[in-house]
Amino acid sequence: MKIAIFANEGRKSMMISRKLHQKFKDTHFILDNDNPDIVVTVGGDGTLLSAFHQYKNILDKVRFVGVHTGHLGFYTDWRDDEIDDLVISLQSDNGQSVSYPLLDVKVSYMDQLRPETFLALNEATLKRNSATMVTDVYIGGELFEKFRGDGLCISTPTGSTAYNKSLGGAVIHPNLKVLQMTEIGSINNRVFRTLSSPMIIAPNDWVTLYPNRESDYILTVDQNSYHGRQIKQITFKTSKQSIHFAKYRHMQFWQRVQDAFIGAEYAN
Ligand code: NAP
Repeated sequence: MKIAIFANEGRKSMMISRKLHQKFKDTHFILDNDNPDIVVTVGGDGTLLSAFHQYKNILDKVRFVGVHTGHLGFYTDWRDDEIDDLVISLQSDNGQSVSYPLLDVKVSYMDQLRPETFLALNEATLKRNSATMVTDVYIGGELFEKFRGDGLCISTPTGSTAYNKSLGGAVIHPNLKVLQMTEIGSINNRVFRTLSSPMIIAPNDWVTLYPNRESDYILTVDQNSYHGRQIKQITFKTSKQSIHFAKYRHMQFWQRVQDAFIGAEYAN
């Protein structure tokens, strides 16, 4: 089995990464950063997001394992003091995995014939900071509303606990292959009207935005951002691709949510 270690630059992560490297060598795993079967990330959820973008071209053949150097995360199953157990689990790997939905983003620019595509693990947002963002919002090809405000966020189920949650969106179980659209600072008064509620988009539906012709939009895809180009239209749809995690000792989703946001001591 070929393994890649992907760590953030924190001191603790680098230390754990070096230890893991040695343990994998001692147990005769092949370390291969270019063409791995398993990517072990060391850091937090943000580190796993970066690893996802690094390996997004081989998603169908790669499985991820997350080691957290702080608190447990949504994409990380192992604590940094459990790496011996992790190596033992990898030695008896039988290919089991759990898969989560991803978001396809397709952007047509005014100055380019071919659309560009992006893949998100958490979410994509379209925002305008300098002035109000004005965009027609289509759902499944039908005009739904004209949005005025700071922006819109479209998240995956596993991304629902990230930016989406800060925007008042619901936490979605990742077994549901749906997307969620949340508003960022919408204007609602006697003149302008939006739904003003988070919306759950069905598996085969899609959202298309036709923003007014301005060039100061910011498109974010997870931790990456793109700006400075006039967008003709942008479509968000659940991807046919998924991210796969090695399933050795997978924590249940609601347990993670409780652990991250409530804490066991407040749960009873
Ligand atoms: P960051 O700004 O350094 O950290 C964002 C925080 O979000 C970190 O605490 C990270 O956890 C956490 N996080 C990431 N994915 C998560 C998930 N699926 N569920 C729950 N928490 C999650 O940025 P980053 O680490 O590069 O992550 C980029 C993400 O930041 C974006 O995808 C977006 O979701 C989020 N973000 C949130 C807001 C907001 O809430 N207002 C604004 C912008 C961006 P770790 O500490 O474990 O890494």
